[in-house]
Amino acid sequence: MCGALRAADAGKQAVLMGWVNRRRDLGSILFVDLRDRTGITQVVLNRESNAAVRDKADVLRNEYVIAVLGTVKRRDADTVNKNIPTGEVELVADDIRILNESKLPPFLPSDTALSNEETRLKYRYLDLRRDAMQFNIETRHKVAKAIRDYLSAQGFFEIETPFMTRSTPEGARDYLVPSRVQPGTFYALPQSPQLFKQILMISGFDKYFQIVRCFRDEDLRADRQPEFTQIDLEMSFPQPERVWEVVEGFLKAAFRAAGFEIKAPFPRMDYDEAIRQYGIDKPDLRLPPFTDVRDCFAPENLQQLAVNPSLPVVAIRIPKVGELSRKERDEIKPLFVSKGGAKVFEDFKRIEKNFAAAATKIVQKSGAAPDDLIVIVAGSAQTGEQTALPPHRKVTPAELSIYASAGLLRLAVAQKYAERHKGFQRGDFRFLWVTNFPMFEWDEGDKTWMAAHHPFTSPHEQDMTLLESGVESVRDPHSSLSAVRALAYDVVLNGTELGSGSIRIHRQDIQRKIFRALGMSEEEAKSRFGFFLEALEYGTPPHGGIALGLDRIVMILAGAESLREVIPFPKTARAVDLMVDAPTPVSDAQLRELGIAVKK
Ligand code: ASP
Repeated sequence: MCGALRAADAGKQAVLMGWVNRRRDLGSILFVDLRDRTGITQVVLNRESNAAVRDKADVLRNEYVIAVLGTVKRRDADTVNKNIPTGEVELVADDIRILNESKLPPFLPSDTALSNEETRLKYRYLDLRRDAMQFNIETRHKVAKAIRDYLSAQGFFEIETPFMTRSTPEGARDYLVPSRVQPGTFYALPQSPQLFKQILMISGFDKYFQIVRCFRDEDLRADRQPEFTQIDLEMSFPQPERVWEVVEGFLKAAFRAAGFEIKAPFPRMDYDEAIRQYGIDKPDLRLPPFTDVRDCFAPENLQQLAVNPSLPVVAIRIPKVGELSRKERDEIKPLFVSKGGAKVFEDFKRIEKNFAAAATKIVQKSGAAPDDLIVIVAGSAQTGEQTALPPHRKVTPAELSIYASAGLLRLAVAQKYAERHKGFQRGDFRFLWVTNFPMFEWDEGDKTWMAAHHPFTSPHEQDMTLLESGVESVRDPHSSLSAVRALAYDVVLNGTELGSGSIRIHRQDIQRKIFRALGMSEEEAKSRFGFFLEALEYGTPPHGGIALGLDRIVMILAGAESLREVIPFPKTARAVDLMVDAPTPVSDAQLRELGIAVKK
């Protein structure tokens, strides 16, 4: 245990085994920093006290694996290294044994400058030896264990579900596995254990969880991996609040395991409210919400500004950005992505100059301090007509466009000026439950309704009549399906979605209706989900659950920049494992056996 020796061990004999992290050759004295998982100890090989051992050590190079037998000695006061726990002692070698040599590595675990990522991934075993990676993997272990322990103590069983299964509709492409015994047929790797966990509820295991690998063939963005790990959970007979309580409990345990205390319960917000206040369904609460400033302008002001008076006019406020130069103001414009005719007024000075009364009211209403940045977003006068609000909803599609444009700009500007407002400090964790999502989203390409979460999510009790009437016109983007809310919820942290879940449909007739609303014929529903529809007919309890991304949680807790930093063997953005070099072509014989021919 290279990291274990302390001053109190002085005088004792010890045997350490590990890697040569670094060596300093002063001629008659050689210092070796010996490293293992627990840390580093300085080993001293001194010609004066033991010439044979010092000479034997001449051949040592970085990353050699050695065993050292020696005597623990306190270091002189002026050579104490305060940066490492073993810095008060050193091991004076009486004997060494070389357990293995090492070629000169392409980079050293002790290097402070990082190699390029491709090299790191190709030589992942060397990369994983680095301190930072050892810390990340340890954090991952501790976090997963804390979650397992918490859920087990709450009476949850961890139950495995198959990897070789059939397609689950989570909205991504499947990875397929050909069957040799039944040529021409394929298993799909699960995008999630969704249907299995629901079937476990039907099977009477009322509290299930699994820390489980999921597979989705998506175009990879920086924060995605083709295989990733979910903390998957399902319960029978829960209200949404019960699921949230369980999640808050295990997150508390997970954060504590990584050294952070968090408070629960987390605040809750309706999806529509999140859109109105933050323009996004995963609000970052570390910065102020929008201020609705339409009423700060006189009607003629809005006319002069060519702003649609029936659409929202919102002020984005980013604290402490300070006075912006003209050039800086110009840089805000390109950050603005206009949806549905939204426009931006990035020069608040101009508003102050031309509409002084309105500007004063805006400052007052938004509570802006003199050095806060204010940017206004509104709908341009040419935007289309407002539509009526659907029942139980607070945002129309036209309003959504304005809010969404403002929401993206708010985040982009906040990111750009993070150094100035200092609102994004590590350790400031703002959690939020976002609830009551819309059940369906219109897909303009396919001209169909899609499940916003997944098709097993229960619609809101109050919206069943909207569903009834909506299934009569499933090709209509204005059908009442647009107003159906889902009993779905997301847990959000600092603008990142950590997980989503829902109360599920437990009645077969409603499940059929949802499939119909999604444009699926009876036959198609039967062929894809017949087994599940049948299972629903055998006494299915009301149930609900959630899944959270473990990789992302660990990434946040470890303070890492990407998911690849917390996954031992990740894939690149092109879904390649550079270490084992996968994927690869396979032999003709293998293909023949599977009855597969690859097109050249
Ligand atoms: N299976 C869902 C997902 O992977 C989560 C859930 O509804 O529990 O997103």
